[in-house]
Parts: sequence; structure tokens; C-alpha cells
Amino acid sequence: MVELQNVRVKYPTGDGVEKISFTIASGDFLFLVGPSGAGKSTVLKTIYMDVLPDEGHVQVEEYNSLFIRKKDVPFMRRKLGVVFQDFKLFNDRDVFRNVAFALEVIGRKNKEIKRRVLRALADVGLSHKARKLPRELSGGEQQRIAIARAIVNEPYILLADEPTGNLDPLTSAGIMAVLERINARGTSVLMATHNYDLVKKYHGRVIRIENGKLL
Ligand code: ADP
Ligand code: MG
Repeated sequence: MVELQNVRVKYPTGDGVEKISFTIASGDFLFLVGPSGAGKSTVLKTIYMDVLPDEGHVQVEEYNSLFIRKKDVPFMRRKLGVVFQDFKLFNDRDVFRNVAFALEVIGRKNKEIKRRVLRALADVGLSHKARKLPRELSGGEQQRIAIARAIVNEPYILLADEPTGNLDPLTSAGIMAVLERINARGTSVLMATHNYDLVKKYHGRVIRIENGKLL
């Protein structure tokens, strides 16, 4: 379970978000929709605790933003998968090793890494690209690799920040299909987007944010 309770973030510039409360239950598909600058990325950052709230709190499974210790943040993040608009893949590692990275960091055995990476690549339909470099792939394929990397740890929830922001409509539909498939298997999905038209085409709860507040 992920719960935001009356979350407020104030940047030194005066921008930020306030009074943000919502819950993501097991299996939810939730869209966070609002124009650029509304506060979507800030809300997501409070969930992976890159930004801690100035007021209120965020609960991610057993971890609470009020009480979490710095050394526990990496453990909390294993509950989450995160995907960004700009993919953030390593260009000097092939696809397999990009997806394997999170498992290597936590010291999984090679056999288990191989099994999990191959399954994650199959989930996003790109098993045949395992030995390619990211730059040898299209934007849509790179985003699917980023999704594979995010789900390889079998997270409780996948956070996607404008995952289709750099992609054309057809490619975006392919990414949405991948997210829906992941959700159908029980992983919660929270997707931030400024694209209302895209959201209308899909099932899922929609929460809207403008000027740092939920509508
Ligand atoms: P969105 O993702 O909806 O486009 P953001 O959460 O990135 O919105 O930003 C919300 C507001 O906070 C914007 O006005 C933005 O300029 C501001 N902002 C975001 N990050 C920072 C930061 N690190 N320092 C100062 N202001 C920020
Ligand atoms: Mg953003």
C-alpha cells in the first residue's frame, strides 16, 4: 500500500505541492494528470522519497517518510519500480546488463539474474534485443527496456513519470499496452502524464492536479 496524507512540498522558489492525499491499493491503475509544472513529478518524488514532505507523510508498505532512516531508503525503493520520460538507460551496457543492473547491485546470483532479466525482457516483448546497445533501439523500445528494468525486481508498484512523453501516439499505445499487462498481473501502476487525450482511452482511476493541488 502507498498512502500520501496531506503532503506538502515547498521549494525555495515558492513552487511545490500541497494538501496531496491519495492511496494506491494493490492492483490499482492510477493516472496523475495535469499540465506541465502542476506538480506531478514532485508527487512521484515524494513516493520514492527523493523529496521528503515538509508537511504530511508518505507511507510505502512498512516505510513512512516521517521515520525512515537514510540507510533504509534503498530498501524502501525495492518496493518500487520507476520509469522516466527520458529512459535513463546506460549507453555503455547492453540491454541485458541494463536490466540486470538493479539485481547486480543487490548481489543476486548470476543464475537468478539471468532468469529474472529474461522474464522481464519477455514481459516487454524484447527478448530478441538482449545484446543490443540502447542507442541501437528506437525510442519506444528503449522505454520498454526501461520498464523491464523497473519490473525486474517485481516491485509492488510501478511509478511512471510521463513514460510516453517523448513518443509518438502509436508507440505510446504500445507502452500503454505493456503497462496494462503488468498491471493485470497484479502490480499497481501510477502514471503521471499531461496528456488528457491518452488517459481517456484507458481504464484506470484519474486524479487531476493543477498548481500543486489535487482537483
Ligand atoms: P510537473 O511534473 O507536473 O511538470 P513538477 O513537479 O516538476 O511539475 O514541478 C512543480 C513546480 O515545482 C513547478 O513550478 C516547478 O518549476 C517547480 N520545481 C520542481 N522541482 C523544483 C526544484 N528542485 N526546485 C525548485 N522548484 C522546482
Ligand atoms: Mg514532470
